[in-house]
Amino acid sequence: MIQASKLPVMEHFYTLQGEGSHSGRAAYFIRLAGCDVGCVWCDVKESWDISPNQYLTIDHIVAAVGQTPTDFVVITGGEPTMHNLTELTSALHAKGYEIAIETAGVHPLKGQIDWYCFSPKKFKAPIAEAYTLAQELKVVIAHPSDFEWAEQHAAKVSASCKLYLQTEWEKQERFLPLIIDYIKRNKNWKISLQTHKYMQIP
Ligand code: SF4
Repeated sequence: MIQASKLPVMEHFYTLQGEGSHSGRAAYFIRLAGCDVGCVWCDVKESWDISPNQYLTIDHIVAAVGQTPTDFVVITGGEPTMHNLTELTSALHAKGYEIAIETAGVHPLKGQIDWYCFSPKKFKAPIAEAYTLAQELKVVIAHPSDFEWAEQHAAKVSASCKLYLQTEWEKQERFLPLIIDYIKRNKNWKISLQTHKYMQIP
């Protein structure tokens, strides 16, 4: 028997997508282990390292998704473009699932994705491909200068790419009012709230 390919999975669970364009939608999350971006404010630092016991077969992952009524799968991390997603995305598409990825856009995408959410980070420069593939640009605001930084990225994505600003969770008291004010003056942006955190769901 041929051993099915494996990917390191930190956690996988059925929940609601909390943020961005698909916010509020039921989604099966596959959080892959491994990240080489290193954001200082990262809220999933436990995803950075890969341990040998995290590897699951593609069959196992797809079967777990199949235990739920979801039609939508979100591949996140960590930084999911570190991995070759060709087999996973093929297997999920074969079952009819719509697939989104959440990425800092630092590595070429290997796999077929239906929704590319590009969330650039200051700690590792994105590659040019990320701007071409982005259907959603989600910029985390953690410093007043991040608004200008967000505009620099927005200038490079396609005209149809949806633009979101999201406060760093720990600094929301400071930045939420600034984001609201900014969007009122710059209507091409929308706000992204981490609603899963308000709902206290994963
Ligand atoms: Fe954390 Fe995501 Fe930044 Fe990686 S890219 S350090 S997982 S916030």
